[in-house]
Amino acid sequence: MSWVIEGETGKWELVCGLEVHAQVISNSKLFSGASTRFGAPPNSQVSPIDAGMPGMLPVLNRFCVEQAVRTGLGLRAQINLFSVFERKNYFYPDLPNGYQISQYQHPIVGRGSLTIELADGTTKEIGITRLHLEMDAGKSLHDQLPDATLIDLNRSGVALMEIVSEPDIRSPEEAVAYMRKLRSILRYLGTCDGDMEKGNLRCDANVSVRRLGSRDFGTRCEVKNLNSMRFIARAIEYEARRQVDILESGGVVEQETRLFDSVRGVTRSMRTKEEAHDYRYFPDPDLLPLELEPAFVERIRASLPELPDEKKARFMAEYGLSAYDASVLVAERATADWFEEAARGRDAKQVANWVITELFGALNRTGRDIDACPIRPAQLGRLLDLLNDGTLSGRLAKDVFQIMFESGEDPETIVEKRGLRQVTDTASLEPVVERVIAENPAQVEKYRKNPKVIGWFVGQVMRATGGRANPQLVQELLERRLR
Ligand code: ADP
Ligand code: MG
Repeated sequence: MSWVIEGETGKWELVCGLEVHAQVISNSKLFSGASTRFGAPPNSQVSPIDAGMPGMLPVLNRFCVEQAVRTGLGLRAQINLFSVFERKNYFYPDLPNGYQISQYQHPIVGRGSLTIELADGTTKEIGITRLHLEMDAGKSLHDQLPDATLIDLNRSGVALMEIVSEPDIRSPEEAVAYMRKLRSILRYLGTCDGDMEKGNLRCDANVSVRRLGSRDFGTRCEVKNLNSMRFIARAIEYEARRQVDILESGGVVEQETRLFDSVRGVTRSMRTKEEAHDYRYFPDPDLLPLELEPAFVERIRASLPELPDEKKARFMAEYGLSAYDASVLVAERATADWFEEAARGRDAKQVANWVITELFGALNRTGRDIDACPIRPAQLGRLLDLLNDGTLSGRLAKDVFQIMFESGEDPETIVEKRGLRQVTDTASLEPVVERVIAENPAQVEKYRKNPKVIGWFVGQVMRATGGRANPQLVQELLERRLR
């Protein structure tokens, strides 16, 4: 089902491409040896290169290049063995050089693609146009002093990857799915931590609209610096609607850069095309063109981990999981590893169910991620062993799970200490069954007319035993006694 915008005069379609900035995981900066550690005191991690001192020469960080190539390979993209760093010239107080070193005509990575998964179970390919390496600027701090702006250059020179998509995105949902998948791949690769709150992953959304069925692209606006999944969806939806309203009332969309106001939920103009910068790109004379040896690229290719798409396919084939379960489990590498460890030698579908419902539920409720999970994979595995051998009923197993999550204790310990073992012997259940029947003659009458009332009796016996009775056995005993 395509996402359409209903206008006064007909239906409209969204066309969207994303430009994503991803901070490269690297101990030092793109052109200097200064540290990239987060949270250091202002201006404590600034080399003369990052401060734009005259006469300083940038030296390309080999590891950042490897990270870009690794990312390109993870995006099934063309790796360009020849690329060029250029100066993108503009003035900004936190850009001491007066230019940013970026790539333009010859980026390090060319065309690739990424598969997104949508809520209705379908998948779609989104084209990657290019990926290039560039340096980040410093930070202007406007809220420290009442009448002055302070500059922190710790971020100046930190390596970024700009990843540009083709205009293949057709709904806010697809845009979010694209960002999620991209983040997942970057984390698997270890090339960007994907932390949107810290701004380590952010995107600009290019948005245009056209009449449904039309093949031409409309004029686009670029909404800058979206730093949460929710904002991406809301900004795109708002912007598309705004453009439809303009076009339907006979106006024209002006190509411009806009900002999303997350409080009011609207986009507003930042600069128009006339005010757009002319960056006067030219190759940086301080840096040679970057030439990669094929062997360098192949070494990186050989070291790539199993990526989410491959892992998903394997989980479906090896464990018989549904596409949905598999994609939920592989989204984070740590979760996938956790699941596989718990599932080793066990019924993988059962383990997947418990991970997706019970474990994810508990983690969400407590705002933790899997790395901080109090339960170890083997412990969940052993809990399910207790369930499968009849020591625990399904209901008791869920209770034990909760206690494990709170205490980190072994399932066996909890069962012993709290006497949670399922009651499966006829001798101790029969008196309870007798009593419940004796105390409820009216219900017994009802049962004679409607055998479904047995469920009510099972409930009573379960309650009387603190949920510890084996429900099948209770049902059997009741049936025998009531018949
Ligand atoms: P620029 O370099 O000016 O930002 P690009 O051609 O590189 O322009 O495009 C940037 C982004 O805009 C890409 O993600 C691309 O997919 C997207 N884009 C291009 N044309 C359109 C359009 N008509 N509507 C929506 N997005 C578009
Ligand atoms: Mg752009």
